[in-house]
Amino acid sequence: MAAATLDQVLAVCAANRERDLADLVRLLRQPSISAEDSGVAECAALVQQFFLDAGFAPTLLPTAGHPMVFAERSGAAGQPTVLIYGHYDVQPPDPVAAWVSPPFEPAIRDGRLFARGAGDNKGQFFAQLAGVRAWLETAGELPVNVKFLIEGEEETGSPHLEALVAEHRELLAADLVYTSDGPVIDDAYPIVVYGVRGLLYVELTARGAKHDLHSGNWGGIAPNPAWTLVRLLNTMLDADNNVVIPGFGDDIQPVSPRMRRAMDAIPLDQARSLAELGIGQLPPPAGVPYFDRLMARPTLNIAGITSGYGGAGSKTVLPAEATVKIDMRLVPNQDPDDIFDKVSAHVRAVAPEVKIQRLGSMRPSSTPLDHPFAVPVRRAVERGFGSRPVDVPLLGGSLPDAVWTKTLGLPSFLVPYANHDEANHAPNENLVVERFYAGIRTAAALLAELAGGRPMPAPGSR
Ligand SMILES: [Zn+2]
Repeated sequence: MAAATLDQVLAVCAANRERDLADLVRLLRQPSISAEDSGVAECAALVQQFFLDAGFAPTLLPTAGHPMVFAERSGAAGQPTVLIYGHYDVQPPDPVAAWVSPPFEPAIRDGRLFARGAGDNKGQFFAQLAGVRAWLETAGELPVNVKFLIEGEEETGSPHLEALVAEHRELLAADLVYTSDGPVIDDAYPIVVYGVRGLLYVELTARGAKHDLHSGNWGGIAPNPAWTLVRLLNTMLDADNNVVIPGFGDDIQPVSPRMRRAMDAIPLDQARSLAELGIGQLPPPAGVPYFDRLMARPTLNIAGITSGYGGAGSKTVLPAEATVKIDMRLVPNQDPDDIFDKVSAHVRAVAPEVKIQRLGSMRPSSTPLDHPFAVPVRRAVERGFGSRPVDVPLLGGSLPDAVWTKTLGLPSFLVPYANHDEANHAPNENLVVERFYAGIRTAAALLAELAGGRPMPAPGSR
C-alpha cells in the first residue's frame, strides 16, 4: 500500500480550501468575548465539535474561569509529541460603529477575511487543526503525536493557564510547544520567534503632609513627595539608560554569536521605522544596535508619574502625594520575583518612606536558536509560506511563554501566521486568506518534518 507523503497531504489541503474557509467562517460567527462572558461556552462547544469531527476525542478542562479545550492523538509510537497552543476567546469588538462589516458576520474583501478573531486567534489555531485533519483524512493517522490546548481566556490575561498547566503536566507532556498568534513583522517574510521579554510592573508612592498645601505658606516646612520620587528614580537609571539598581543585571546573559547573527539578519529598515515614529536618533547608550535594545537589554520604563497640579495655567501647590508607575522589561534569566526583591531593597535603602506595590509580572522565556526542533519548525514554515523564515530570538513584548519553557521545561516556538496589519484588538480585524492557507500548509508540513520527513505507512500497511 502506498505511503502517505506530505505532498499527498498538501494536495488534500488544496482540495479542502473551500471547506476549511467555511469552517473558519462558522467559528468566527460564534462570538466568544471572554471579558464579557459572551458566547464563550457556546464557542468552546463548537471548537470541541470541530475536533470531534476531525477524529479527536476532545475534552473540556475546567478552570475557575472559562474552560480550555484539550484534544490529542497519541498513536505514533517512538515519534515526538507536539503540543499546539491557541485560544478561542476574542477581544470585545468595540467600537462596533468603526467596523466596515459587523464583527461577527465574517466578510471577505480584497482577499482578507474580516471578523473579530480572524487573526487573533481563531484563524491561526484553526489553521493548525485544518493542517492536522488533512493528515487524518489522507492517512487515517498522524506521523507524530499531537496535543492541542485551546484556551478560553487568553484575552483576559490567561489568569488560569499557569495553574492548569502545572496541574496537568502528564496530560500535556510533549517534546515541544508550537503556537501561532500575533502578526508578522512584515508580510514579505515569515518569522519564527524563540522567546519573549518578561515584565515586572510596580507602583511607587511617596507621601508628604496629610493633604496638599499652599506652596508659599508651607514651602520649606512640608516635604515634597514629588522630589522624593524624582531623586529616587534618579538612582535607578544612569545617563546611559543602564539600570543601576544593585544586582539588577546580575543574571543577564551575554549575546551569543548565534543570537548576534540572528539579530543582524532581521531585515528591518531601521531608519524608516524611526522616521515613522518621529524619532531622530536612538537614545543612549550610543553604539548599541537596534535589536540588542529589544532583545538583549532590560528596560526600566516610567509609565506614568502623578503628583500635584498638571492642569492648564499655574497653581502654587505643594503636593501631599506622588506616585510613579514603572514597567520593567526583563530579558531571559532575569526572574521577576528576584528583581522585585532587588528593587524593593533599593527603595528601602534610598527612600525608606516610599511604598512599593507590585502590580503584575510575567517571566521572560527563551528557547535556544540552535535547538534541534528549530530545524523542522523552520523547514515547515518554509514549506508552508514558500519562503525561508527569519529568526526572531526574542519579542520585545511579553507573553506567558514561560509556562511552556519553565513550568513544563519544553522548547517553545511561536510562528505567527497573521498579516502585519491584522488589526488585532482593533476594529476591522482581518486575516489575509492566503495566509490562512499558508498556515494550514505549515501545520501539515510541521508534522512531516517532526517525523523526520519520512513517509508514513498508510493504514493497514504495518
Ligand atoms: Zn489578542
